[in-house]
Amino acid sequence: MGCAGWGAAAALAFALHAAGAAAEEPATTKHFAVYAEAGASARQARRVGGLAERAFEHVTGRLGYLPSEPIAIVLYGQRDEFFDKVVPPHAVGAVAAPHNIVRIAVWRSRDGLYPVVAHEVSHVVLARALGGNVNECPRWFNEGVATWVSRVWTPADEAQAEELVRGGRALAPLALDSAFYGGDEEVGGAYLQSAAMVEYLTRVGGSDAIARILREMRRHPDFDSALERAVGLTQEQLYQDWLGELGRRLHWPWERMDADALIFIALGLLAVFAAMRVLYQRWRWRREHDDEDALSQEEIERARELEDLYYSESEGPH
Ligand SMILES: [Zn+2]
Repeated sequence: MGCAGWGAAAALAFALHAAGAAAEEPATTKHFAVYAEAGASARQARRVGGLAERAFEHVTGRLGYLPSEPIAIVLYGQRDEFFDKVVPPHAVGAVAAPHNIVRIAVWRSRDGLYPVVAHEVSHVVLARALGGNVNECPRWFNEGVATWVSRVWTPADEAQAEELVRGGRALAPLALDSAFYGGDEEVGGAYLQSAAMVEYLTRVGGSDAIARILREMRRHPDFDSALERAVGLTQEQLYQDWLGELGRRLHWPWERMDADALIFIALGLLAVFAAMRVLYQRWRWRREHDDEDALSQEEIERARELEDLYYSESEGPH
């Protein structure tokens, strides 16, 4: 408590109550109230509060927006009917409109809680940054930002994105948005491609590209024109450029080699060079020694003189 935003705590508590969340006292931090539901413990709530604060700093920095109102997180410790009803079957967490309450299934999160917490916090910060204009934000961008901001983008992620393109499974923005409502594999591919496109966006548009797009969208809800004003690309151009970059990389394999592979190749080339040098020196040594074996011009002349002398002697006075 003690934060100005906590004036809205009563309204939030009412919303949570209406949504079926716990009446228990939440674990509060500077920007969060974490409720433990369905077997989740107070200890887990305190832990998630800490993770959420860490995520908050990173996410608000990347998105360029600082929400003033506190964010409510409800944890579910075991299978829960209400959770199953409001959260898609593939998800570990979700954000429910209109109060932007985060719901996290602690029992479902196998890869650690931080990425889940950061992902959902990103959705809330983005929704608060855009207000009513959030409905104009394409799903791929919203999910792409949340996925990208909640983890470190690794060469393995990039390789997976290349695999997606190689397999002809990359989708144009409009189709990409629909893929989030498809089967498991489609949904997985949609999250991956969206994050890869956001990663590309920040690479070509700068680390504040997301913040600039959101700033533009606050003024004008149209996503395409916000994107164009912020980074000079339409969605379709962004998709084509991203696809083009990955296509070129698939063409030139060394562009996707990591430092270890390049060092290995460099050492191999050095070894070949050293072996060639040894062979060359050996060949030169042999040639010089062959020259030594051969008679010099002077020795040849001398041999001829001796020959002449012999013949002249033998042909001599008879
Ligand atoms: Zn999401």
